[in-house]
Amino acid sequence: MARSKSDISNSAIRIFLQRVGEYYDQARGFTKFTPTKGQKAELVDWFARECCFCGTEITAEHFTQDHLVPMNKDSLGLHAWGNVVPACRPCNRDKHRKDWRAFLQTKCEGDLLLSRQRRIEAFIEEKQYEPDLQIADFADNLYSDVGEVAMTLIDLRFKQAQEAIQALLAGKGAA
Ligand SMILES: [Zn+2]
Repeated sequence: MARSKSDISNSAIRIFLQRVGEYYDQARGFTKFTPTKGQKAELVDWFARECCFCGTEITAEHFTQDHLVPMNKDSLGLHAWGNVVPACRPCNRDKHRKDWRAFLQTKCEGDLLLSRQRRIEAFIEEKQYEPDLQIADFADNLYSDVGEVAMTLIDLRFKQAQEAIQALLAGKGAA
């Protein structure tokens, strides 16, 4: 449940990034990343059935989708091929808004770190995911517009609810 104006704006941003991601997938010649059952299998197989950060074994049925570039107003990651990687639940939770390279460094070191980093980079490259899409202004505007419009509508309906309460109480007083 949305608790504040920023929750509503953040939800709008996620929907926006999801739709831009769909379009970006199709524009690059991919089937949009849902993921379907087949897409989950492809993704998990690509990473040798391991969490891409810590190496824990995962299956196509049991893994969480981590967005390398987070889906929020500041990072503007898309829900699209090349930005979603398979992770175990703890890594998905702990990484949250962190930069994926910095997070990976907390999970492994030395040759393992290097090979996991190269594997993720190879995945991004294969899927031609170029995060620098110049959509920051659109997202900023959407974020503030949605917040303003939502609060205006909530204020309007709140006034009507106040009137309904007053009418109800006045009716009881007269009876
Ligand atoms: Zn993990």
